Parts: sequence; structure tokens; C-alpha cells
Amino acid sequence: MADSLEQIAKEVAVCTNCPLHTSRIKAVPGEGPPDAQIMLIGEGPGFHENQSGRPFVGAAGEFLSEILQSIGLSREEVFICNVVKCRPPGNRDPEPLEIEACRVYLDRQIALIEPNVIVTLGRYSMARWFPSARISRIHGTPRRIGRHLIVPMYHPAAALHQPSLRQEIMKDFGKLPQFLAKASQSWTESGDDATEPESEQPQQLSLF
Ligand code: SF4
Repeated sequence: MADSLEQIAKEVAVCTNCPLHTSRIKAVPGEGPPDAQIMLIGEGPGFHENQSGRPFVGAAGEFLSEILQSIGLSREEVFICNVVKCRPPGNRDPEPLEIEACRVYLDRQIALIEPNVIVTLGRYSMARWFPSARISRIHGTPRRIGRHLIVPMYHPAAALHQPSLRQEIMKDFGKLPQFLAKASQSWTESGDDATEPESEQPQQLSLF
């Protein structure tokens, strides 16, 4: 049977592969069009997401919608998900073993959607592609890895805790339409399909 986003959501809803299933009310597999050009990957569901089964519906989600609108995008045009699909208790950070256990679902989502641009929101999703990087150094700087342009950005919730980051986040997202245009163009031209490296150093970052 061919894989699908619906199939992944069904499996996530009953998954017991890591301890986070015990704090799950509703799994949050992610949402968006199956052919989205942009995929946003956050950290994990919070209280409101656990209640609703939808990603980014709390205050951080409102800010994310506002940011997307400011660059002419709607939530419906992008695929939004997290590195773990069930809520860490008390909104704690996801543990490495939980992220690893959940990685199979994210891998399948990326393989199905094949987004031109992947925006990592926060350090836990950033660490998948840039494990030794600091977000304060590389946010807003894209790197092409395989067929995706990976753009590390601060998590929108960071602006709620640290208002000075708000303008920084808006500025980084402001570059997204330009990144998307160039990523689509360079993929069409080169047909590059290199394997994703496991480790990237921040000083190796480059535009394309
Ligand atoms: S967080 Fe992921 S791996 Fe853990 S129980 Fe939920 S779906 Fe399964």
C-alpha cells in the first residue's frame, strides 16, 4: 500500500514507540497540503495542540500565522508539524530518544511532501540538519542539503518569552519568499539529489 499523510496520522494516533504516548490526549501529526513547497518543523505539541490535535494553535501559533500573512502566505499553503507528535508533559523539551523514536514519521512526511524549503523552528528541529550549530549564529541563513533548502529560524514562542527576538524572526521570515523562489529555480536547473549529510558545521553555511 502506498504511503500517505493520512496513513501516517493514523499510525501516530496509536503509536506507543516512546513515553510521550502517555501524555497524549490527541496526537498532532501535522497539517497542510501534501504538495506544500514549504514545510515548517517545530518542536512538539503544547497544551492547546494536545487538546485539538492541530499544530501551532496557541499564542505561538497566532504569531506564526501573523508572520506568514506578513509575507503573503497563509497557513493553508504550508505544511506545519513537529519533531515529536505527542505532547511532552508540562511542555518540557523533547528528549533525544523521543525525537529519534518519532523521526520515522517525520522522515515519511518529508519524503511524501518533498518540500523545496524546510524551515526549522527552534533548536530541536534545527539539530537534525545542524547538530553542532548555535541558533543565534545561523538563524535565517539557508543551506541546501540534498534536494531541500533548509532554513533554521527561531521558534515563534521565543518571541513570546523574549520580545526583542520578534523583529529578528520577522526579518528572517521576510527572506523566505526569496529563498523559495531560488530553491525552486535551482532544483529545476540542477536536479540535484544528493544525500543529506548527518552533520553540518555553522561555518560551512552558504546560501546555495
Ligand atoms: S511522540 Fe512520536 S514516537 Fe512518541 S509516542 Fe508519539 S508518535 Fe510515537
